[in-house]
Amino acid sequence: MTSPVWHPFTQHGLNEPIPHVVRAEGALLHLADGGTLIDAISSWWVTTHGHCHPRIAAAIAAQAGQLDQLIFAGYTHAPAEDVARGLIDLAPHAPDQPSLAHVFYSDSGSTAVEVALKMALGYWHNRALDGLGDARSRILVLDHSYHGDTIGTMSIGERGVYNAAWTPLLFDVGTIPFPAPGQEQACLDALDAACREKPAAFVVEPLILGAGGMLVYPPAILREMAAICRRHDVLFIADEVMTGWGRTGTLFACEQAGVVPDIMAAAKGITGGAIPLAVTLATAPIFEAHRSTDRARLFYHSSSYTANAIACAAAAANLAIWREEDVLGRIAMLANGIATRLADLAQHSAFANPRKLGTIAAIDLIAPDAGYLSDLAPRLRAFFLERGILLRPLGNSIYLMPPYCLDETQLDHIFAALIAAGDRFGVKA
Ligand SMILES: *Cc1c(COP(=O)(O)O)cnc(C)c1O
Repeated sequence: MTSPVWHPFTQHGLNEPIPHVVRAEGALLHLADGGTLIDAISSWWVTTHGHCHPRIAAAIAAQAGQLDQLIFAGYTHAPAEDVARGLIDLAPHAPDQPSLAHVFYSDSGSTAVEVALKMALGYWHNRALDGLGDARSRILVLDHSYHGDTIGTMSIGERGVYNAAWTPLLFDVGTIPFPAPGQEQACLDALDAACREKPAAFVVEPLILGAGGMLVYPPAILREMAAICRRHDVLFIADEVMTGWGRTGTLFACEQAGVVPDIMAAAKGITGGAIPLAVTLATAPIFEAHRSTDRARLFYHSSSYTANAIACAAAAANLAIWREEDVLGRIAMLANGIATRLADLAQHSAFANPRKLGTIAAIDLIAPDAGYLSDLAPRLRAFFLERGILLRPLGNSIYLMPPYCLDETQLDHIFAALIAAGDRFGVKA
């Protein structure tokens, strides 16, 4: 019987196998046919400590029996309060910059970024009502950005085959060139020039552009971008949806640049990857621009499951793990193991352009037909699947983003498969 399920980012016409997973533990997925897969991309970048972490699973079970869901307009509960306080503590801080002081809940990275955009425009709108300058609406972004798949987040992301059908619905944004090696000053100059036109905000993925191809740039450039925005009174929005929760080696990527954004979106690993939840953090001025006795100025955004209590309990357990366990130590060990093996892999003549940041590594396979729509990516997926590894290359860019519990044996197995893929599909120099 064919399945009625319509899968995301899946071309059903290709009839690729769709593995059926029945159980997961640590870095392993157990299949219905008895096989196992190493989850080398953390089930799309969300699983941080490992699948079915006992502390998170226990917190979910306990909360599910106590308070499941509550309207969050005008009501509150302990898990949401605890997580918000914990987030404010753990969020990036710098002595010379206003702190993130308010937490708005939603359900996915896309909505967290949309909320950030709505907060930014709301800020300028409400200030204009007070006679404090013009309302602003233009958004600046980096080339190759990805911020989600809703209409608003597609608008501020890279345009291409994956959103061509909806171009008529997408709004116009200002695009700043990516600070590739040698292009850093051109990027900063373009940002400075664009900021003179009084845009509302600049939205950026800090230190690494994920879906755009795992493109890395240095903390000093991120720091300079934030400084330019501050100088021109343009809101600086950090999309930490992928980079947050230790991925880049620190809890949040902005820490490495000493940057406190005006607005910050986080999701993916916020519950350790167990259950959907997202947050948008804002500084006091953003919140205060909406606080008034005037109901016309309240922040008009909600979804049915805003701050779902079970999801918040999972996030609270995740925060406790971060506070009480040496997560950064585990991340440093894994990052080290990845870095040494990546350096070896880069010697292989079929690979080029190795890049890494924390627990993320990427490398390009030099292959005859390597475009995003070539059949290389599906063939690579099948190749790794046969070897018991879940990998999902972006075109010819193969990347790893494993859970932090991945062990040395699993890492060796993954890198052996990468070498085999180079031998099989690569063009030798
Ligand atoms: C995944 C991602 C998003 C979207 O998050 P969803 O939870 O999939 O909606 C937004 N921004 C970045 C940088 C991401 O990697």
